[in-house]
Amino acid sequence: MKEAKFGTKSIWAGEKDSLAFGATQVPVVHSVSFGYDDMDDWYEVAIGNKKGHIYGRNTNPTVEAFEEKIRILEGAEAATSFSTGMAAISNTLGTLLHPGDRIVSIKDTYGGTNKIFTEFLPQLNIDVMLCDTGDHEAIEQEIEKGCKVLYLESPTNPTVKITDIKRMAQAGKAVGATVIVDNTFATPVNQNPIELGVDLVIHSATKFLGGHADALGGAVCGSKELVEKIYHYREINGATLDPMAAYLLLRGMKTLKLRIDKQNQNAQEIAEFLKQFEVVEDVYYPGLAEHAGHDIAKQQMKGFGGMLSFAVKGGVDTVRHLLPKLKYANRAANLGSVETVVGPARTTSHVECTPAERAAMGIPEGLIRYSAGIEDIEDLKQDLEQAFQALPRDLAVQS
Ligand SMILES: *Cc1c(COP(=O)(O)O)cnc(C)c1O
Repeated sequence: MKEAKFGTKSIWAGEKDSLAFGATQVPVVHSVSFGYDDMDDWYEVAIGNKKGHIYGRNTNPTVEAFEEKIRILEGAEAATSFSTGMAAISNTLGTLLHPGDRIVSIKDTYGGTNKIFTEFLPQLNIDVMLCDTGDHEAIEQEIEKGCKVLYLESPTNPTVKITDIKRMAQAGKAVGATVIVDNTFATPVNQNPIELGVDLVIHSATKFLGGHADALGGAVCGSKELVEKIYHYREINGATLDPMAAYLLLRGMKTLKLRIDKQNQNAQEIAEFLKQFEVVEDVYYPGLAEHAGHDIAKQQMKGFGGMLSFAVKGGVDTVRHLLPKLKYANRAANLGSVETVVGPARTTSHVECTPAERAAMGIPEGLIRYSAGIEDIEDLKQDLEQAFQALPRDLAVQS
């Protein structure tokens, strides 16, 4: 039989070993520890010679099913999980980087990741080089100077910039760096960084993987050798995924393919639809032919994702009037949910920056991040249209 397709795998993969009592759904095992009557058995499991569970901070059957599903969807040899996406990132960097090491990354990483680079790694005497996102020559030059880790994100938050992952992975490998990609925005439906040559794929499962904005979690996928080291760091440092969250994420992942296909479609239609409004200054979406990263995105992505952003004339004033009028959107900081979610970049992804810093990063104060949900597209379009029409006249015609 041929290997199952993605949609089939997202439903069936990884669950079998965690089913019990003939249950067809993975049970939520709320047990801190796992008991043994046979002392030798206990010992064999404890030292890793035999499959089994010892203590919830290390492993748990529900959590294991989540890890197995994301491992299979990313086509990786191994995967481990975390309490949040940020825990996945900090534990991975904590495993790989030591005082005196150098890391090369880009300026447009997720806000929390950027804080690790600018605030916490320098405290450990780790040299951080952040390059202009999309400037491939500059990134290659910095990689060639030598680095322990190359850390990338594509598409980025909030202006969905694209980095050529294959090209950067080659450059990173040439100097012996561990190459990491945060694949949260794309999801394995749209992009497979391991196929493009990277070592480790990171996810905030809180976003598209879970898809329902009701559970926090993170994952790292890659070679057995690297993932085992990162797992060891996590089991000791304790950023463990909770079994209930693992269950909710697992349930969400069953519909991953359906949701992402719909979100890809909705985001593309919304991006094109927004261009006609006078008050919309710019639309950022890699699925638009005029987007700077469109050609690379077309090569490395199967779909362009559910995230877009757009800048409105009149800046914060317009945002203040516009967003509260939307009926089918949560005004919130999350993304990747079945509901459409909107928020200004100045309040969400880049809240830690000053207006001047945001301007320097190419993030206008009137930038709105739009995470397309799975609603019917006609309703989303109508909703935006009525919100634009209800803008005070002086804002709507501002240029
Ligand atoms: C949200 C997010 C994170 C952090 O994930 P949490 O689960 O909130 O800790 C990391 N990277 C990207 C791209 C994100 O969107």
